[in-house]
Amino acid sequence: MQNLKELQENIKNANNIIIFSHVNPDGDTLGSMIGLSKLIELNFNKKTTNVIIGRKPDTYAFLNSIDECRSNNDIDKETIYDLAIAVDVAAKDRMVDMQEVYFKAKKSINIDHHITNNGYGNINIIDANASSCAEVIYGLAKALNWEINQETAELLYIGILTDTGGFRFENTSPKVFNYAAELSEQGANPTKLYRLCYESKPKAMALLNAYAIQNAVFKENDKIAYTIITKEDMKNFNAKGDYTEGISESLRQINTTEVSMLLKESENQTTKVSLRSKNIDVAKIAETFGGGGHHFAAGCTIQKPPKIALEKLMEEIKKSLYE
Ligand code: AMP
Ligand code: MN
Ligand code: MN
Repeated sequence: MQNLKELQENIKNANNIIIFSHVNPDGDTLGSMIGLSKLIELNFNKKTTNVIIGRKPDTYAFLNSIDECRSNNDIDKETIYDLAIAVDVAAKDRMVDMQEVYFKAKKSINIDHHITNNGYGNINIIDANASSCAEVIYGLAKALNWEINQETAELLYIGILTDTGGFRFENTSPKVFNYAAELSEQGANPTKLYRLCYESKPKAMALLNAYAIQNAVFKENDKIAYTIITKEDMKNFNAKGDYTEGISESLRQINTTEVSMLLKESENQTTKVSLRSKNIDVAKIAETFGGGGHHFAAGCTIQKPPKIALEKLMEEIKKSLYE
């Protein structure tokens, strides 16, 4: 409670506030960032600067206020903010070139739910049992008696909905259902938001997903399922960066799968890896490659092309499978 009070005081006293998403933003970091921004506007009558790091995802273009968000490329790095807040940012390097601005701020706040978060802020509000960062924010809004309206309820609901995979993943606790019920009472409509998040895929995204599953490779008695997407594949499908979301989860849906992964060829001979599992701690595996995340959903970027990254990953996964 003490750090919540401190957060409240810092928001009250700040003249300028900047909020950061993590790179390659998803529904949770966006719902949390814009949701928190709107809560601050509603309760403190203050506007914040919201920064999307990396590309603005097409799949969340439906968020009304996404256009008000700035890109990391048009933030002046010299400005010193009174308050910098990172939401859903597991590790400081996920703020990429915005770390400088974050740590230069008079006070830095770290609001998150990743078990691997090391508490890099001056004030850390981290709940590794929370389904999503949006759940943490809704919890603190309740504890601080902040007013919530339909817009903020919808944004936080989107964070919870997407990080629980539509109320299906292991992080779907009774609290999640209670919060979702309260948020829907405040005006977040489950069907409307489900359709926007899950039934509004661009055609190319659905086709890329099918292609990736079709090309999946199964190892260790089908316990490991992986698929590789190259830059050329992305070009062939005319796919935007966020169109690969959900592929690793699709592979986990197979009954034999223990660990699934997507290896995505990225710039400069690097590979972005999305790990999912049913029992094995993949956050631990991701951490050995400098990444992190949650027990059953984690990620990392390996400074090698996919084929070489795969060999290294297989070694670590096998160790975890048979230990
Ligand atoms: P993704 O596979 O990108 O959807 O990420 C799965 C989970 O792992 C998310 O909660 C991410 O925030 C987290 N994650 C992904 N990449 C990293 C990384 N390089 N460092 C720390 N956490 C990560
Ligand atoms: Mn996230
Ligand atoms: Mn999250």
